[in-house]
Amino acid sequence: MAVIIDGKELAKKYRAKLKVKCDELKNKGINPKLAVIMVGNDNASQIYVKNKSKVCEEIGIIFEEYLLNENIKQDELINLIEKLNRDDSVHGILLQSPIPSNLNINEAFGKISPEKDVDGFNPVNVGKLALNQDTFVSCTPYGIMKMFESYNIDLTGKNVTIIGRSNIVGKPLIQCCLNKNATVTVCHSKTKDLNEHTKNADILIVAIGKSKFVTDDMVKDGAVVIDVGINRDENGKLTGDVDFENVEKKASYITPVPGGVGPMTIAMLMNNVIKATENAKL
Ligand code: NAD
Repeated sequence: MAVIIDGKELAKKYRAKLKVKCDELKNKGINPKLAVIMVGNDNASQIYVKNKSKVCEEIGIIFEEYLLNENIKQDELINLIEKLNRDDSVHGILLQSPIPSNLNINEAFGKISPEKDVDGFNPVNVGKLALNQDTFVSCTPYGIMKMFESYNIDLTGKNVTIIGRSNIVGKPLIQCCLNKNATVTVCHSKTKDLNEHTKNADILIVAIGKSKFVTDDMVKDGAVVIDVGINRDENGKLTGDVDFENVEKKASYITPVPGGVGPMTIAMLMNNVIKATENAKL
């Protein structure tokens, strides 16, 4: 039976440490602030943003929400981002995705000042990660790397297979794992013979968005399995991309859903806001 990587507990420890740092900043008269922009009324986004606001409150970070009408024009969105870039009281800016498809999200991410880009989506920060320079690492991959660190899972020389190549999870994970000296394979919807790649993995990271997609026959004995997926099964129950019940019997370590990657993602967002605030005061 695998060791269950307790993301919930680990995230709690990180939040406690961040609260101490936040209090220190406040004692010096600096109030960390995160500005969150949401466009339209996407249901899932509303839940994610609510969760982020709760955690900000817990740590003591000021949370400022900008709700924009789904019919806004690109230049109105960019104007808001530029206004927040100029506002010294704002340390982190987050544009919640998705936004309506008529808007250009990549252009918008590129307009967020790299110093306030706490999601790590600005091309400057993406480039810095590729060059293994200090930067804001996108929160989900960063949270996963912290899980490896906390559970003493060394990536050096390991075969890491990532399923999913999104800009927010799969692609930054490639760099994170390479920077830790892993041999990285990336699979996606056009990959042929997926099982061949997954069975070769010492560490398998799954970010697809399909409930229980990874079954035990796809996993090598003793592999570390990280499940990024957030789905609802036929009964409305929250599930990951991995068939947890069966894969757990084969893996050495596994993350549950819920209580795995999710809480660590939010903790790393908070980490990035505190880091942005500390950088700004230098
Ligand atoms: P996405 O939805 O942008 O893309 C999915 C990826 O899966 C694509 O790269 C695609 O090529 C790949 N894929 C789809 N079907 C496949 C198949 N049959 N075989 C192999 N690859 C296949 O990805 P995303 O935004 O990274 O989200 C993935 C999942 O992770 C979603 O469930 C999302 O909700 C979840 N997620 C969770 C967190 C968290 O904090 N826990 C954060 C971000 C995303």
